[in-house]
Amino acid sequence: MRLCAMGIARLALVAAAAWPARVGLLRAAEPVASRASATSAPGAYQASGTASRPSWPDAALVTACERRLEGLRGVAGDGLRYRVEVPFVIAGDVSAAELERIARGTVCRAAEALWAGYFDRRPTEPITVLLLADATSYTRYAERLFGDTDLPHFGYYRRRERTLVMNIATGTGTLVHELVHALGDYDFRGRPDWFDEGLASLYEQCTLADGRIRGMVNWRLPALQKALAAGTLRPLSELITADDFRGSREGLNYAHARYFCLYLESQGWLQAYYRRFRDGFADDPTGLRFLPEVCNGQSVQDIDRAYRRWLATLAWR
Ligand SMILES: [Zn+2]
Repeated sequence: MRLCAMGIARLALVAAAAWPARVGLLRAAEPVASRASATSAPGAYQASGTASRPSWPDAALVTACERRLEGLRGVAGDGLRYRVEVPFVIAGDVSAAELERIARGTVCRAAEALWAGYFDRRPTEPITVLLLADATSYTRYAERLFGDTDLPHFGYYRRRERTLVMNIATGTGTLVHELVHALGDYDFRGRPDWFDEGLASLYEQCTLADGRIRGMVNWRLPALQKALAAGTLRPLSELITADDFRGSREGLNYAHARYFCLYLESQGWLQAYYRRFRDGFADDPTGLRFLPEVCNGQSVQDIDRAYRRWLATLAWR
């Protein structure tokens, strides 16, 4: 068992179950994450200091991870390899090297960067990450463990069980997306869909370097620019306040929210906005009123105009 990103006691790895190694599932380590990949060089991971958080993780969380691991092993069996990086219980039918690379290079590094940049409160319960090697395995375990049959292509997050279920053959981009949901729940519960999905989608294509996570342009851009050019892109204030994120324009709403978060990040405003919104959530559950405060006093209309001008300059491939 390891304590994810902790400089304290490193315990022995949980023994991996016997399982033939599978190769060629993921591309070689690369510094840039994409829809298909959010990886980093093995060994580049740097544990952060723990002096400011002496009580995390506490013994109860470590014990809970051990219990979660044994419970999962009891249900999933010896067809998976298992690894603990507190607070994560990670299991998969990829090779031991792949499991370590994704656990350390993606899960732990992304978590550390998200904690450093956004989430002040860390998990108090285990978060399970299932790394299924291909579509067949993904389908089999999703049904066997949860009875899920109508699955998203890349993976999904079961909030109730705090479990990420990933078809890792498609890469690690969606893994980071779902990780933002899982970790964000401990710091900003109740955040609206536009901001929850905007932030999660932002990091489905990202870079991880020097302990920081940064979003990149991705496949969601063309549809958004098409709507912008056609004059059909709804006002920013409407995206934020309408409470219809999951409606008929859901796909475009994801893109709109994602790129607005990327815009805020590009201006150096996203982290401040996240904290202002989180801390003022009771005063405005939509987050609209906090935008001018972090965007140099600009009105929401002026912010929207500047965002659209910036959006038109982006290019995807
Ligand atoms: Zn999501």
